[in-house]
Amino acid sequence: MKNVWEEAQFNLRTAAETMGLEPEITERLLTPMRFTEFTIPVRMDDGRKKIFTAYRSWHQDATGPTKDGTRVRPNLTPEEIKALSLFMSIKHAVAGIPAGGGKGGIKADPAALSEGEYERLIRGFMRRLAPKGAFVDIPGADIGTGAQAMAWMLDEYEQMNGFHSPAAVNDKPFELGGSRGGFEATGWGVAACAERAAGELKLAGGRVVIQGFGQVGSITAGALFQSGYKIVAVSDISGAVAAQKGLNIPALVEHVEKTGQVAGFGEASAAPAAALLETDCDILIPAAVQDVITEENAGRVKAGLIVEAANAPTTPAADAVLLKLGRTIVPDVVANSGGAIVCDFERSQGLSNDYWSLEKVREKLRGRILTAYDEARAQAAERGVSMRQGAWINALSKIRAAMMWRGWC
Ligand code: NAD
Repeated sequence: MKNVWEEAQFNLRTAAETMGLEPEITERLLTPMRFTEFTIPVRMDDGRKKIFTAYRSWHQDATGPTKDGTRVRPNLTPEEIKALSLFMSIKHAVAGIPAGGGKGGIKADPAALSEGEYERLIRGFMRRLAPKGAFVDIPGADIGTGAQAMAWMLDEYEQMNGFHSPAAVNDKPFELGGSRGGFEATGWGVAACAERAAGELKLAGGRVVIQGFGQVGSITAGALFQSGYKIVAVSDISGAVAAQKGLNIPALVEHVEKTGQVAGFGEASAAPAAALLETDCDILIPAAVQDVITEENAGRVKAGLIVEAANAPTTPAADAVLLKLGRTIVPDVVANSGGAIVCDFERSQGLSNDYWSLEKVREKLRGRILTAYDEARAQAAERGVSMRQGAWINALSKIRAAMMWRGWC
């Protein structure tokens, strides 16, 4: 398969065939409902005007307003944005969130821009996109954007429309109406799924390896460490560190805060990052980028349980190899849906003006993600398919029902 969009379409087709989804519905979901490519002219610090390319994909809105992230990275492709918008439709449906799937992005390297250039780019994105607000399309953060970018987006939206509407943009700072626990949400959700699956597979308290030690990887590691799991190796773009007795995760987080990388962490030994996924362990958590477990290396993965924190870290061919080997995979659309769940909480809080405590957010997130996990597991067991297929079938059933009720099919 050529790219992540083709892989996403493959997962959709496979689940649709297994459940006998009407071809008309499958066909509709294989293409985004709407997709736009537009340009953003930005005045650079040296006075030049530079044109940036941007995208937004609205996969489907039968299940509610389209929602989710804005990715800024230099090699961004329209296929990636389409795939991510489909994943958001599935993730929202899996987690019982009444929202459709959306995703946006800008082809740019944030590290190559000054703060002023970056701010003008983000504000320009919002002006050119001109989203219609909390009941239609709600942008949020993704790779290359964060709370500050979302604050500028909300400010731009509110200035354009002349009223305050905190629910119109997600992942914003708490002071502008954001939710507590938004930053931790995905990592907490990954850890909750990992613990649930480990308990079922009698791997509780087992040895964990995590690829990627950014927002998701580090929070997941911290939560599992607190629950008594041994994190025996982690990696980031700088390299990998390992310790058979288990890494001291709070100390590693401190080291990364100081140095910006896991490499050089005093009490651990350096490990070859390339072979990290093949480390002897019970639980493997890819939390970096897509397509890292491939047909080529899948046979050497030793973990009995793989929990997909990253989006699409396992190629379909690798998926087949791992399933044949009897490995359990908690798929991305369940495992990393914590961020989407708390974004939904954020929108609810913004609309109701009732802001929740961190404990309430974490407890409700746990309840919601573990229900999604249990439903996917039950569907998989009933049909004798993988948990990935179980989750996709559950999601497609809900989207199908919404389309039927609306009379779209
Ligand atoms: P991040 O940028 O904070 O962290 C990414 C980490 O991966 C960094 O430590 C980086 O050094 C490392 N990395 C990058 N390339 C690597 C490589 N080739 N080998 C090893 N490490 C590498 O990103 P994040 O927010 O933690 O997201 C991680 C993954 O989770 C992404 O795939 C993202 O799409 C997915 N995800 C994130 C969220 C969220 O809420 N942040 C939600 C759903 C899915």
